[in-house]
Amino acid sequence: MAAIAHEENLDLSAIALFLDVDGTLLEIAARPQAVSVPDDLRERLRALQPAAGGAVALISGRAIADLDELFAPLALPSAGLHGFERRDAQGAYRRMPPPSPAALEASRAAMLQLTRSHSGLLMEDKQFALALHYRGAPWLEDAVVQSMEAVAAGVAGDLELQRGKMVVELRPSGATKAHAVTAFLEEAPFAGRMPIFIGDDLTDEPAFELVNSLAGLSVLVGARPSAARARLTDVAAVRAWLAQLQADTPAALSRLRADESRPSERLRSQA
Ligand SMILES: [Mg+2]
Repeated sequence: MAAIAHEENLDLSAIALFLDVDGTLLEIAARPQAVSVPDDLRERLRALQPAAGGAVALISGRAIADLDELFAPLALPSAGLHGFERRDAQGAYRRMPPPSPAALEASRAAMLQLTRSHSGLLMEDKQFALALHYRGAPWLEDAVVQSMEAVAAGVAGDLELQRGKMVVELRPSGATKAHAVTAFLEEAPFAGRMPIFIGDDLTDEPAFELVNSLAGLSVLVGARPSAARARLTDVAAVRAWLAQLQADTPAALSRLRADESRPSERLRSQA
């Protein structure tokens, strides 16, 4: 197949790798703070980064400070809070204009009230984004979504609803992972390379669409309807693929491109 033959020429110096964290590199835990980074994953990223000329970035809904704590002593180029903040390959930090303190405070108060009225809900305060996790009470999904839609309506322009796996979040308006990836791709060492984005959740969809428009590789972890064109089954498959990417880049890329050329299979996995 033409696409595969083409990719046989690619090595790590030709790709820009963008990785979501939770549900992609790390198994999702009962609470966001309960995750941990296994040593072999940290070691894999530590080795991949220089091998790829530094063009490896984490693109997460977590804050960058949180990512740094998790992956320490690694401090990769990163985007946090769904693209609201970014640290480039030179270590420079920038963020979008923050939501108003009044909008954040009003949302925080309303969400705390929800956690007091229903047991099993967990509020995660990320300073400029607020998440309500219902993993501990999945039967409350409809009520949580409805309540959060009402909260979001009151802070429109400052914060927007972002749904995810067992979580409803208010993220800064306009922040998307596609924004962050676009910004990285305008700078060295990411510029001019073929982007690969791997993610598992709804917040990753804008980045999948962006990468598709750039003839890159969009990879969904799991199976559900998605703009992503290739699939990896689970976190273990992502880690195995990263190992293959380092050991045999053309084979790793060809594997996912072959996935792309099987639309019927894609539809089946979406069903
Ligand atoms: Mg994720």
